[in-house]
Amino acid sequence: MSSIYREIFDLEKNWHGFNKNPFSKTDLIELAERNNIVVLKDHSVKNACVFHYEKRKVVLYNPHLPEIDFALSLGHELGHIGLGHVTPHSEPLHANYLSNSSMEKDAGIIGFLFWAPTTDLYRMDRDGRLNIEEIYNHCRNHRYGDVEGVDLEKLCKSRLRIYNALKRSRRPHF
Ligand SMILES: [Zn+2]
Repeated sequence: MSSIYREIFDLEKNWHGFNKNPFSKTDLIELAERNNIVVLKDHSVKNACVFHYEKRKVVLYNPHLPEIDFALSLGHELGHIGLGHVTPHSEPLHANYLSNSSMEKDAGIIGFLFWAPTTDLYRMDRDGRLNIEEIYNHCRNHRYGDVEGVDLEKLCKSRLRIYNALKRSRRPHF
């Protein structure tokens, strides 16, 4: 089993509110600043990138991104930092959603959870109504109204897949 889900539990502890509440643009910038990460606007980057500079971690983001893309991009770069991908000698990482590398996929999952935390699915599961139709209706009625059709279906399937993987990875309570 990939260790990403174990790392998510650590990030939940270290990043207050992560994977509990959806993060807005402001929430993400505040989280970065609390963690001593420099966040700067840069019109020349496509969406966002992250690198190490003089003992600090720096995230550049394109200020023209729509709110959703912003959350996913900055969340993705914070994911690289949280997962320990950004070291003094590493190359700058650019948000690349098409990459198949496990590092990019893992950072993508973190970005996704900033935007769509698993809390709603936990509630559905607790109430015994966790299924794809229920998630679909929930997403359509709530914050994801502007994501439609095939994309919404993909979004719902991703949420269920991540939720189930997290559930399998949780240590049993005792
Ligand atoms: Zn990346």
